[in-house]
Amino acid sequence: MARSFLREVFGRRALRSSDYTSVVLFSLLVFVVGIIATSLFAQAITQQNLKDYNSMLEQESSTLSQRMEDRLAHNISMLVAAQTYVNQKETITDRDWEVFYGNMRIRERFPYLVGVGYVERVARDNFSAFEETRRREGTDNYTIHPVVDGASQTPIKYLQPRSSENEKALGYDMHTDAVRAIAMDDARDSGDAVMTAPVDLVQDKDSSSPRKGVLLYYPIYMGGRLPATIAERREQLRGFAYLVLRPGDVVAQYAKELPSLDDSMHITMSDEAFESEVQLYGGKAPAHISKDAITKAETFSVHNRRWKIAVTGHDSPLSRLYGPLGIFIMGTTVSIVAGFVTYYLLVSRILKVEKSLQAEVQRTKDELLALASHQLRTPASGVKQYLGMLSSGMAGGLSEMQTELVRKAYDTNERQIEIINELLYVSKIDAGQLLIEPTRMDLTKTACRAMDNFQEQAAAKDITLTCKARKPYIVHADDRYVVMVIENLISNAVKYSYPSSKVTVRLKETATNVSVSVTDTGVGIAKHDIERVFDKFDRVENPLSHAEGGSGLGLFLARQLARAHGGDVTVTSGVEKGSTFTLTLPKESTIDRAYVNLKPVKKIGTIVGRRSK
Ligand code: ADP
Repeated sequence: MARSFLREVFGRRALRSSDYTSVVLFSLLVFVVGIIATSLFAQAITQQNLKDYNSMLEQESSTLSQRMEDRLAHNISMLVAAQTYVNQKETITDRDWEVFYGNMRIRERFPYLVGVGYVERVARDNFSAFEETRRREGTDNYTIHPVVDGASQTPIKYLQPRSSENEKALGYDMHTDAVRAIAMDDARDSGDAVMTAPVDLVQDKDSSSPRKGVLLYYPIYMGGRLPATIAERREQLRGFAYLVLRPGDVVAQYAKELPSLDDSMHITMSDEAFESEVQLYGGKAPAHISKDAITKAETFSVHNRRWKIAVTGHDSPLSRLYGPLGIFIMGTTVSIVAGFVTYYLLVSRILKVEKSLQAEVQRTKDELLALASHQLRTPASGVKQYLGMLSSGMAGGLSEMQTELVRKAYDTNERQIEIINELLYVSKIDAGQLLIEPTRMDLTKTACRAMDNFQEQAAAKDITLTCKARKPYIVHADDRYVVMVIENLISNAVKYSYPSSKVTVRLKETATNVSVSVTDTGVGIAKHDIERVFDKFDRVENPLSHAEGGSGLGLFLARQLARAHGGDVTVTSGVEKGSTFTLTLPKESTIDRAYVNLKPVKKIGTIVGRRSK
């Protein structure tokens, strides 16, 4: 099936089956090599992509942790300023804190901060007075909460900016929360800024999507100086300046500056000691990211905390493109195309070479035929002359038997010359060198005269020849070749007729054509052989063909010559029913001088439609 399909593609000519197998095998080899090469190539690209993606994630996590560290470390400057500010004042009012917040331009410089606050240590006895003061300052429902046992508590006194979420935190004693308490105590004892592990913010109490935050505490002592011992620090603690931030907001700010961050990534920040994690970036948790996800982590320390930043990402989108399916589709497509192209090129090439070889063989054959027939003609004609001289008595009288033998030799030589002539004509046609030169001619006269030439031959078989024509039919044709055609038809009719029969030559006309038909009552031709009789060198077996001999060229030549004139030779026949061969010529011929060619007539010289005189 494949072969017939390909034959359709490349035309009717087929390759030899050995060539076909080699071409198919070679094309398959190209296909297989293509698949392997593409797979290796795609695999190399996949690996390279993976490597690039790994180092990109590494770079990402290192940049992020560096920036995070810088940013968190940088915040301390603001808390130091707050401490200095508080130390200068006996008491701090709501207004003071607002002024501090405004003067420091905190909102502009630290846009990601949720708030900057002041925590004051309040002795239990002063709770009411403290709350009263705050309420007088405008925070109507200010209460210290939750109230726990102990000599003092550390409620949030002020928190800027004044937003509804920050309002919720006012009065809250952060020391009542374990995680916050650790950082507050550390800060108090060390005199340094200490950050909490990720916590749920009071600001997010009623939020539907709370995000973890961290707090940074900076201790403030009575007298404005850092007490020497831990005991003194605990004793003299006045309060804390502190800030609240959500680490995710810090990263969100950087995300705009880091184009390599994409939505498929997931970034977390976790406190190593508390093992609590805060999601900084990305929607999905790492567990839900595909199994080929890659995580790169980096650690840094700031404000007494050790943090780990982990960046998790999918394998790069490029390597997904070159994944197994990508490799398969790409490799197969490229290889199929390569296989087909190879097949096409090889077949075209082989067919081209074959064609030129065939043309070469044909040319050599034609040349040989032309040469051989030419060289045979001269000696054959010589023999004819000598036989003629013998039978005319030039060499003395011949006995009856000698005369009979010379006559037979003469006839045989005649047939030989006839065949050589036919070969010569065919080779001339093949070489495109047979020139027809039409003139006005009387077809009736030509046909009947041609018939007369066969009277003797016909008489030998007791065949009666008759030529029937109502009038002279004038056509525009080359008399030399029209005679050849008619003679061939009459000769065949005599050859393939049984003794004591009739051969009739008839001339007729229609509106456009004149025809010469030669009818016999001889052996006839089977239906399936009819068209073969016009093929070159094709002889059809019949009861008389062996006795009569021939070259199988006569009808081929007759048809080519007739067609060169714009006419044709056709036949109607039946086995043992006789045959009628008809030469048809156009009445109004448009053929001028032209070379007979196996293809349609090749014109030379004059313009189509004009007759040469
Ligand atoms: P040749 O006669 O030399 O064999 P032709 O080309 O003239 O070659 O004829 C081709 C074949 O056609 C002959 O071999 C013969 O079988 C068949 N043929 C030609 N003319 C006749 C005819 N009048 N009756 C029967 N068969 C014919």
